[in-house]
Amino acid sequence: MSTSLPADTIRDVIIVGSGPAGYTAGIYTGRANLKPLILAGMLEPGGELMKTTEVENYPGFPEGIDGPDLMANFEAQAERFGAEIIFEEATDLDLDGPVKKVTASDGEVYLARSVIISTGSAHRKLSLPNESELSGRGVSYCATCDGSFFQDKEVAVVGGGDSAAEEALFLTKFAKAVHLIVRGDQLRASKIMADRVLSHPKIEVLFNTQVAAIASRQLVDGQESMIGIKTADRSGNIEHLPVQGLFIAIGNDPRTNLVKGQLELTEAGTIAVQGRTSKTNLPGVFAAGDVIDPTYRQAITAAASGCVAAQDVEHFLANTVPAQLEAATA
Ligand code: NAP
Repeated sequence: MSTSLPADTIRDVIIVGSGPAGYTAGIYTGRANLKPLILAGMLEPGGELMKTTEVENYPGFPEGIDGPDLMANFEAQAERFGAEIIFEEATDLDLDGPVKKVTASDGEVYLARSVIISTGSAHRKLSLPNESELSGRGVSYCATCDGSFFQDKEVAVVGGGDSAAEEALFLTKFAKAVHLIVRGDQLRASKIMADRVLSHPKIEVLFNTQVAAIASRQLVDGQESMIGIKTADRSGNIEHLPVQGLFIAIGNDPRTNLVKGQLELTEAGTIAVQGRTSKTNLPGVFAAGDVIDPTYRQAITAAASGCVAAQDVEHFLANTVPAQLEAATA
């Protein structure tokens, strides 16, 4: 999809990613009249909140708001201030030098003096042998997306953090029983979520337990279908749990595959930024949101991080002499 500007236009800023960080960077750079181009992605535009139900802790919404509605508001607000949004993935980034090149999934190459990377994070896998094969056939990473398929069925959720707690609670709307499988001896989720989980009559929490295998059988069409899981406790006791669904919610890893080899990363795998700024090791390249944050990872902290990146971009552009840029690109 081409945008309204000629392809060889050197823009002020391109934002890669469209979660709370990317859209907030779009709102702020739009208001600064930098006419940002946002590559929102086509697989998961809007980011992780598109998969959640009610967001209860985003300030300004005392009654809560649905994740997709919140992200639609972010998008509309960025557009209101002149952000151009295209629903393509970035497939290649060339971040060195004064003019950055961003290649989109349709082959179009966009140029800019600065780039904000806000690619978020991707869900972790258990890495069980048939996990990928059974994805969509019992195994899921998104209760909001797939929960309704498990009406009156028994399901398991893996993980002990806020994501797993949220998934387990959401699934109680459909499933007749939810087994929450926690590898440690306590929940890591916030107290309010942990209390809700532990007191819910439909949720059974299995501490010190891991998923050892996913049991499946072959259907007449040759495809595999999940028929249960095998759990292992600390003593190595194996049990069969006859669940029809397995929801994996064991955290996320920052999406850095596009910048590996170009940007410095931290030990935690996030993009390294200088102090409280969004500045990466390359001039004109900024990063914001979950892709730089191994700790807080909230919608509100990602949004704040997008605001920081937008202001860093403004200062960077104000201090870059355009003549130097033109000489470098001549
Ligand atoms: P998380 O806090 O990192 O928790 C991951 C959980 O998965 C931990 O219990 C961990 O166990 C377990 N785990 C990791 N690898 C595992 C494996 N291979 N097998 C079994 N269990 C495994 O991740 P999260 O729940 O996705 O939350 C991430 C961040 O987002 C947090 O800051 C959280 O507060 C935030 N968040 C907030 C909300 C909200 O406010 N509504 C909702 C969702 C997420 P160990 O404890 O043993 O390591």
